[in-house]
Amino acid sequence: MSMEKIVSLCKQCGFLFQSSEIYGGLQGFWDYGPLGVELKRNVKESWWKDMVVCHDDMSTLDGAPSPYAMEGLDCTIIMHPQVWKCSGHYDLFHDYMVDCKETKKRYRHDQLNGRWVEAKNQRVFITAAAGDDEVELIEKRAMKFFKIRAKNIEDIKYDGDPICLTEIENLAEVLGPDAKAVGTLTEPREFNLMFKTYVGALSGEEGTAFLRPETAQGIFVNFKNVLDSTRQKLPLGIAQIGKSFRNEITPRNFTFRSREFEQMEIEFFCHPDESQKWYQFWRDRRMAWYHEMGIPEDRLILREHTPDELAHYSIGTADLEYAFPFMAEGEFGELEGISHRGDFDLRSHIEGKLDEKSNPLELQLDENGKPKWKGSGKNLGYRDELTGEKYIPHVIEPSAGADRATLAFLCEAYTEDEQPDENGKMQKRVVMKFHPRLAPIKAAVFPLVKKDGMPEVAKKVYLDLKKQFKVFYDEKGAIGRRYRRQDEAGTPYCITVDGQTLEDQTVTIRDRDTLEQQRVKIDELRDIIQRRIDG
Ligand code: ATP
Repeated sequence: MSMEKIVSLCKQCGFLFQSSEIYGGLQGFWDYGPLGVELKRNVKESWWKDMVVCHDDMSTLDGAPSPYAMEGLDCTIIMHPQVWKCSGHYDLFHDYMVDCKETKKRYRHDQLNGRWVEAKNQRVFITAAAGDDEVELIEKRAMKFFKIRAKNIEDIKYDGDPICLTEIENLAEVLGPDAKAVGTLTEPREFNLMFKTYVGALSGEEGTAFLRPETAQGIFVNFKNVLDSTRQKLPLGIAQIGKSFRNEITPRNFTFRSREFEQMEIEFFCHPDESQKWYQFWRDRRMAWYHEMGIPEDRLILREHTPDELAHYSIGTADLEYAFPFMAEGEFGELEGISHRGDFDLRSHIEGKLDEKSNPLELQLDENGKPKWKGSGKNLGYRDELTGEKYIPHVIEPSAGADRATLAFLCEAYTEDEQPDENGKMQKRVVMKFHPRLAPIKAAVFPLVKKDGMPEVAKKVYLDLKKQFKVFYDEKGAIGRRYRRQDEAGTPYCITVDGQTLEDQTVTIRDRDTLEQQRVKIDELRDIIQRRIDG
């Protein structure tokens, strides 16, 4: 299925719009339309309900090493700048970028792949943006660059498989992904991804603050507040959903890489000796959640990070990755990262930022031998009341993106099929097969025709259902057309008031996926819909 079709349906039906579209849009920023806002709210609410409110349902406890507590939090986007110094973001949260002097385009250094190509006595490293069908693209670019026709394709020699631009030392031999000439890419430069702003009337450096690039730090700095105010014991997870901002160099693939996005994060605090078990638990639990929400097993993988991918403090990290349609065949894109962070974060906020570059275990010192970025000095440790043991908890972090999850559910839901219309003629239809919990509209209510008292009854049904669900009322046009509009919106149930309703107070309920119609009593409608949504 093609991404273009999904993008165009999203605009047409009101799932997603480009931000500030009438002014030409702003790259990396997206608005959710009337259906999109409901879908994303349902994603976030399902996550919150399953992870926070109902986490101790017996079904989800299966597999947990022991009972555990969960609490929620909602922190500010702008925090004390020292937070970002101690977390490491101020010094280390950057990507490397290269600019093309010819096209003025900017790329992430680690997102360009290329291949050594030789022809006509010239050897060039020809690049393409990673993720595209790069082998094919590089072949086409090579023919164009060397001015060689398809019939002489044998004259082009390739040296090895595609490799990342980061492995190339001399950029003078590189053909940029959109350039015509060789050697137009600049040397890579560091680029901090945090957006800067100013707090208060001062516009100088003293007032400098940052928009948070992750929600996690708000949880770490409030760890003690949550413990003290709730009197919870470890193991304890603290959850937060909220906006994060990253000045991504190359935002792309629709909402997959945006500059403003929402995260759904849990910081799970536990005893160091039990942290491996909890790491395993959260990897399984989060994988199961996506399956429960309708992502099939063959389109979701858990990819363990290789040792050289791991941050130095990380004991283990695994990404949950989905087969997004914009990825090349057999490749997956990150939906969520689950990492075992040891005691790095709490310790950094107690002691100060650790110097990752020179010596991970030493504090970074200034010229007077004092810690350069001082921590809060506060005791963020934990004392076990039963055993008296004091320790700095270890942290497991399942960190998901609400927008990436929403995009995955959109891609997964998109289906084209053929169904018979009222006259038995086969008609193509687009149907968004969302899990009923995620569907933006749960039910649509239609009078079969706009007369004989049917609209009055249908409106009553609609007003009653509205108290419990997001429902839609439609009396315009042919019934088949009304069904098809709801199929595109992903509405799981369509309720029709017809002649028989007026006699026996029953309506039909049509299932979006099976198209089965069942006749049910109006009085029982709310319960039936609720039961079907809950599965
Ligand atoms: P990537 O490697 O794709 O940049 P990341 O590893 O930097 O992602 P994390 O810092 O682990 O991402 O953030 C946790 C989650 O937040 C990601 O799994 C993703 O779902 C979401 N996320 C991160 N960056 C973005 C972004 N620019 N746009 C949308 N979602 C994002």
